[in-house]
Amino acid sequence: FVRLEEETVREDVGRVGNALDGDLEAMSSTAMDWGGWDETRSFLLGENPAYVEENLGESTLPPLRLNFMIFVDTSGRIFDAIGWDLERGRPAPIPESLKEGFPPDSPLVKHRGPEEPSRGLLVLPEGPVLIASAPVTSNDHTAPPCGAVVLGRFLTRTQIEALSERTRLSLGLYVLGGKDLPADVQQVARELSPQSGVLVRPLDSKEIAGYTLLQDMYGEPGLILRITKPRQIYAQGQATVLYSVMVLALGILAVGSMNFLLLGRVVLSRLARLKTDIEEIEQKGDPTARVAVDGRDELAALAMSVNNMLDALEKAEAVIRYQASHDAVTGLPNRRVFERRLRDTLAQARDAGTGVALLALDLDHFKMVNDTYGHAVGDRLLREIAVRLGESLRESDLACRIGGDEFAVLLPNIKKAKAAKRVAARMMEVLSRPFLLDGHEITITASIGVSLYPLDGDDPTRLLQQADAALYEAKRRGRSRWHLYAPGGKDSAHGKLVLQAELHHALKERQFLVYYQPQVNVETGRVVAVEALLRWQHPTRGLLPANKFIATVEEMGLIEPLGEWMLETACAQALKWHQEQTGGAPVRLAVNLSGREFNLERAVNRVSDALDKTGLPPELLEVEISEQTLMWNVERGIAKMHELREQGVGVTVDDFGVGSSSLIHLKLLPVGALKIDRSFIRDVARQETSKVIVEAVIAMAKALHLRIIAEGVETEEQRKFLMERGCVEMQGHLFAPPMPAEELEKVLAEQLHLLRAAGRTFDT
Ligand code: C2E
Ligand code: CA
Ligand code: CA
Repeated sequence: FVRLEEETVREDVGRVGNALDGDLEAMSSTAMDWGGWDETRSFLLGENPAYVEENLGESTLPPLRLNFMIFVDTSGRIFDAIGWDLERGRPAPIPESLKEGFPPDSPLVKHRGPEEPSRGLLVLPEGPVLIASAPVTSNDHTAPPCGAVVLGRFLTRTQIEALSERTRLSLGLYVLGGKDLPADVQQVARELSPQSGVLVRPLDSKEIAGYTLLQDMYGEPGLILRITKPRQIYAQGQATVLYSVMVLALGILAVGSMNFLLLGRVVLSRLARLKTDIEEIEQKGDPTARVAVDGRDELAALAMSVNNMLDALEKAEAVIRYQASHDAVTGLPNRRVFERRLRDTLAQARDAGTGVALLALDLDHFKMVNDTYGHAVGDRLLREIAVRLGESLRESDLACRIGGDEFAVLLPNIKKAKAAKRVAARMMEVLSRPFLLDGHEITITASIGVSLYPLDGDDPTRLLQQADAALYEAKRRGRSRWHLYAPGGKDSAHGKLVLQAELHHALKERQFLVYYQPQVNVETGRVVAVEALLRWQHPTRGLLPANKFIATVEEMGLIEPLGEWMLETACAQALKWHQEQTGGAPVRLAVNLSGREFNLERAVNRVSDALDKTGLPPELLEVEISEQTLMWNVERGIAKMHELREQGVGVTVDDFGVGSSSLIHLKLLPVGALKIDRSFIRDVARQETSKVIVEAVIAMAKALHLRIIAEGVETEEQRKFLMERGCVEMQGHLFAPPMPAEELEKVLAEQLHLLRAAGRTFDT
């Protein structure tokens, strides 16, 4: 709008200029008429005295609206002139400033051609004036000019008003540098130049002005033309904009309020309802409740996802509730449930005056199943065990899984301890049948500890601890058995915790020692090997044999570092003996590898590392691996055994006879020797079955070309029995107990003496 306004102002200024030009053109054609007239020419040549009277009267100038008509000769001097006051309507003198005429070279005097008038603006002291002049010549314009006729019209206020009226513009003409110029004109005067054209300036919010510089006929800046006009366009523009804005605002308002109303009805009220629904559910804590869903829009979708979330929550709660009370692997109730049931059962038993038995059951060497067959099989075994336990129980009994391979059984309504023992025995029996999993036949045994209410107490926690202590005792006694809690017994659960803490400490403080026990060939009387056995120099309890702590060491996972140390220490010691004991036959070193150690990925590497480190020839080392360990492990173990054999290391099957290895296996295994378990040797003199077993094992070893060795030989009777059956390698207190290295050195030194003394009983 502003630009449009400016343009119209520019145009209007142009129109005024055109109007003035038009006036000047009319004047110059008048001047041409007068100049190109023979009468005028003869008048100027002084040949026409009647001219003045005939043509230059009082009626000459008014119709032409001229203020003066001046005749000059060719040098610009005035020949004759008439003047008129257009405002007052009477004769007047010509302007004072023109009375001297014009310079001879003025364009008003000297024209460029006979038909070329000159015209323009002059700013005289009397005021601005429009001037036109034409040369005086003959009618046919051929005669040389003899002077000029100059016409003038003052731009008076009246003239300007007339111009205003004609152009319908309010305009003003101001002499440049003149007095009393309006402030805006004065301001603009400085900026105006012949080149600046039209300048447009708003005067205020209502009026705008256009200014231009009018040059006089000599090309000098003469007048400032100003037009002013109301800012119609601008106002209209503003109005339009305002209107548009208002319409827009109204529109927005209308749409907005409509939206708001709609929002309120369609969205807000529904959102509010959703919120109250959710709050209600939250308050009640009822995951089965759902929020209302209506419509098919985003809000409905939101409500739907809230419901989906609640679905998921409800399911999760059910799962969590189940998980919180059940064991994930077996599906049996867990420890929490068990403890709750135990409390309830004890309370009921108190009222009814009946007894309750608590059985703590722990699987023997379950870790080995996991290590050998993987956790999936281990888990399935646990499930199968849970099933069998369930089958061996009454309806009212409760079996729970309370730990990795630990179960607890609650037997309410027990009248006598005997009943509990029967159940324990039945469970052991039920579990001892092999499990068939993944094509593997897996056998497992369990140890069970039993505590009784009211015999052993009435506090659930105490009863649990007592059952645990009894279990620990059952394990200590060689596993695969049950044990009834003996009040005041040394082996309490507390004791086990103390033991664990002490073992940690012992490892740090290096309280362990290696003892060595000779293995003797009773025929030659020579020490053929020594078995390295771990000892613990306990700060208060004195020297402890391995069976007092080795099981716990294994459970705690400490057997790895300890076994490594043991292996290296024993190998270093054996090398020393080997190097010092020149002359005699080499003495081999036997080192025990627990199931855990043997199952290590780097079990073989550990052995060869120890050999490398110490430099002990591999042929002097044999590892003892229990029959149970080997049988758990036939597939994987066989490769390891071959690797050991390839290195020259011997493999002896320890504790042979207690496991359930088949002959087939034994034939496939690259073992060098069998070591008959101590328990058979112990009973060999008084128990027929043990006798038969020992005889069979010896015969079998012979058939398979395996060395056979008996351990735990304590009596002459045992020695004799074994010798008669052809078992000549023996180990036991009858010959020598495990002893420190220095002591064994002496024994080795007495080899010859031993040889001679073969067949005699030694003091141990
Ligand atoms: P084991 O391999 O059967 O070792 C023989 C056990 O019988 C030793 O018990 C030994 O002190 C004991 N013994 C020796 N002669 C007689 C005897 O005439 N009568 C009786 N009743 N016992 C005798 P210890 O030292 O308590 O070791 C128990 C078990 O601990 C060992 O059984 C072995 O399986 C394990 N063990 C010992 N040292 C180590 C070791 O360094 N590493 C590993 N992994 N296991 C070890
Ligand atoms: Ca052994
Ligand atoms: Ca043994």
